Amino acid sequence: LENEIAHLDRLNVVAQMAAGIGHEIRNPLMSVRGFLQLLGRQEEYQKDKDYFHLMIDELDRANAIITEFLAMTKRKPSNPERGNLSKVIEELLPLLQAEAINNNKWIVKQLEPVHDLVFDNKEIRQLLYNLVLNGLEAMETGKKLTIRTYMEDAEVVLAVQDEGKGMPAEVLERLGTPFLTTKENGTGLGLALVFRIARQHKARVFVNSGPSGTIFHIRFPTHSF
Ligand code: ADP
Ligand code: MG
Repeated sequence: LENEIAHLDRLNVVAQMAAGIGHEIRNPLMSVRGFLQLLGRQEEYQKDKDYFHLMIDELDRANAIITEFLAMTKRKPSNPERGNLSKVIEELLPLLQAEAINNNKWIVKQLEPVHDLVFDNKEIRQLLYNLVLNGLEAMETGKKLTIRTYMEDAEVVLAVQDEGKGMPAEVLERLGTPFLTTKENGTGLGLALVFRIARQHKARVFVNSGPSGTIFHIRFPTHSF
């Protein structure tokens, strides 16, 4: 059973909330930061200078997290350029291959010539990386992951197929929900980001998962967004 999940875009509601809350939290944070900076310069607080630095650094960290969340709410790629998906994969492959080999797994590619697309190179790399990482993490050692590109119905298709043990229906149903993770050290943000990036590029995401593995299809329209 193949589910199209892109249109559900579960990130959307959360992302919108995060955007609203993020903006609202940022203002008081930054005003506290300003006061800390002011106080930190005063003579009587010089002995506590390190603490002031620490507090300001922590506020900057919180601010950076908000910025990251706000990035998730963007509707369009920030830096769209003409490029080729197969080429992006070729370029990223050594990094992915190293990750695989370190874990005694392997990656094979089957890249066909595909039309150029307009996409954000950094974001497409992120999408690919997140999918491949999940695939590798799902597999036992000795198994292989396949990355394919091809043309079908005027769409550029990216397929990432692993030989993992698939995922239970309750995970499959909620896929893309931010913070959904079955891993001890997972963030549950990888796929949420994949869906967000796919949506920004007007691409559709399909997933097919069973006991012998999982395959993701990302289908990019060749017309631009
Ligand atoms: P994380 O990898 O941090 O757990 P993700 O958003 O990348 O977060 O993935 C969410 C969950 O979806 C994973 O914890 C896992 O249960 C499931 N999942 C994602 N990709 C696969 C896959 N290729 N095979 C099996 N399960 C997967
Ligand atoms: Mg992941």
